[in-house]
Amino acid sequence: MSEAHRISNTAQWQQDDASHHLHPFSDNGALSRDGARVITRAEGVRVWDSDGKEYLDAFAGLWCVNLGYGREELVQAATQQMRELPYYNLFFKTATPPVVALSKMLAEVAPKHINHTFFTGSGSEANDTVLRMVRRYWDIKGQPERKTIIGRHNGYHGSTVAGASLGGMAPMHAQGDLPIPGIVHIRQPYWYGEGGDMTPEDFGLVAAKALEEKILEVGPEKVAAFIAEPIQGAGGIIIPPDTYWPEIQRIVRQYDILLVVDEVICGFGRTGEWFGSDYYGLTPDLMSIAKGLSSGYLPIGGVMVADRVAEAFKQGGGDFNHGFTYSGHPVCAAVALENLRILRDEGIITRVKQETAPYLQSQLQRLADHPLVGEVRGLGMLGAVELVQDRVRRTRYPEEGRVGTLCRDHALAEGLILRATGDTMLMSPPLVITPPDIDELVSKTRRALDATWAQLQKEFAIQA
Ligand SMILES: *Cc1c(COP(=O)(O)O)cnc(C)c1O
Repeated sequence: MSEAHRISNTAQWQQDDASHHLHPFSDNGALSRDGARVITRAEGVRVWDSDGKEYLDAFAGLWCVNLGYGREELVQAATQQMRELPYYNLFFKTATPPVVALSKMLAEVAPKHINHTFFTGSGSEANDTVLRMVRRYWDIKGQPERKTIIGRHNGYHGSTVAGASLGGMAPMHAQGDLPIPGIVHIRQPYWYGEGGDMTPEDFGLVAAKALEEKILEVGPEKVAAFIAEPIQGAGGIIIPPDTYWPEIQRIVRQYDILLVVDEVICGFGRTGEWFGSDYYGLTPDLMSIAKGLSSGYLPIGGVMVADRVAEAFKQGGGDFNHGFTYSGHPVCAAVALENLRILRDEGIITRVKQETAPYLQSQLQRLADHPLVGEVRGLGMLGAVELVQDRVRRTRYPEEGRVGTLCRDHALAEGLILRATGDTMLMSPPLVITPPDIDELVSKTRRALDATWAQLQKEFAIQA
C-alpha cells in the first residue's frame, strides 16, 4: 500500500467513524472533531495504526490480551470450532464439548473449593449474574431478606445496569439513575490517595473495617454479599495494603456473607498466580471472570461458583431463571480453552511470577525519582505512576485528569500505549512481554514524563 493510499484510508475511516459510530466511554463530539485513531493490525506486544505507526501496547488492549497478539493456535481453535459447530445454546439441558472441556479446565486451575462455572458473554454480564445468583442463593437458603450487596467506591464491575451499580464510579452513577436499589458502597483501600498520615497497614485495617460498619448499618441479616476486585483496575491500579484482605476475609466469615471476587482483570496470570484470590489467599464464594479468559480474542466471561453455592443451586430445586443466548458460545469457549492450555503448558504465569513481573517492577521503580512522580506502585503485570504537583504533600495539579491526559498523549507520540485514570498512568502489558520490551516500555514512559514535565514548566513560565 502506498503512503498516499494509507493516508487517504485514514481520513476516510475517520470521517465514516465520526458520521456513523458512537464510541463507548468517549466524548463523541470531541472525538468526531479530532478523528479516531484507527488500529489496523497487531503482533506480539505491538499494534499498528492506519498510518503505519507502531505502538508498544502496554495496556494489553483493555487489560485482556494476556497472551499477546497473533497466536495462531487461537485462530485455529476458532476456525475448527466454527466449522464443526458454530453455535448451539446451553439452555434446556444441553451442553457442547468445548464448554464441558472449558468448565473442567477452569475447575483445575481455580482454587480447590471452586469447581463450577456459569458462562456469560462479558464481565458485565458476569456481574449481572452475580447479583441474581447471590439473591437466589439466599432464597434457597431460606433467608430471602438477605438482598443487599456491598461494593466499593471507585470499584469497577462493568457497564450494564447491575455492573455499573455494583461498581462505584461516580461519573457512571451520575448517568441513568444508578445505583439501583439494594446496592451500597464503602470506601476503597487507596492509601496513596486517602491514607493521610496513617501507615499503609493502619489504613488498610480502617478501610476493611468500613465493611463491618456498613454490615451493621444495613443489618447483618439483610446483607447478601460483598463484591470487590483483588486490585482495583479501572479505578487506578489500587493495591490494598497487606492488612486489608485478611481483615475483609475475617469480616465476611463472621457475618456469613458471600464474598464475590471480581477476577476480570486479576484472573489468568495478571498477578503471577492464576487468580488474584490465589495471590491474596482468599476463599471466594463467587469469582467473576472475563478479559484474560480468552486473551480478548473473542468475548466470553463467566461466574465461577464455590462448592457450597453450587450445591445449594443443585439441591435447591427449580430452575435458575437466568442465562444468555451466548452463554458459553462454543467458538468463544474453544478459544478460551486453547488460551488456558497455552498459559499452562508454556508456563507463562510462572515466568511472570519468577522473572518478568519482578523485572517490570524493579525497572518501573527507576521512575520514582522523576519530579512529576509521586508514587510508582505495581504488582505482577500491573503498574501505576501517580503524577503530582507536590511530591511531599501528595497534591495534584489543578483540573485533575489534565496532566494524565497530557502524559498519555506524549506516550502515544513516543509509540507507547498507556492509560490515564485521572492523573495516574496505568499499565497492564501482555503477560508475554520480554525484558527488552520492558526496557522499551520504561524508557518510553520516562520520555513521556519528561515531555509532560517540560510542557508544564513552559506553561508555568508563561503564567509567571
Ligand atoms: C472490564 C471489567 C469488567 C467488565 O467486563 P466487560 O467485559 O467490559 O463487560 C468487570 N469487572 C472488572 C474488574 C473489569 O475490569
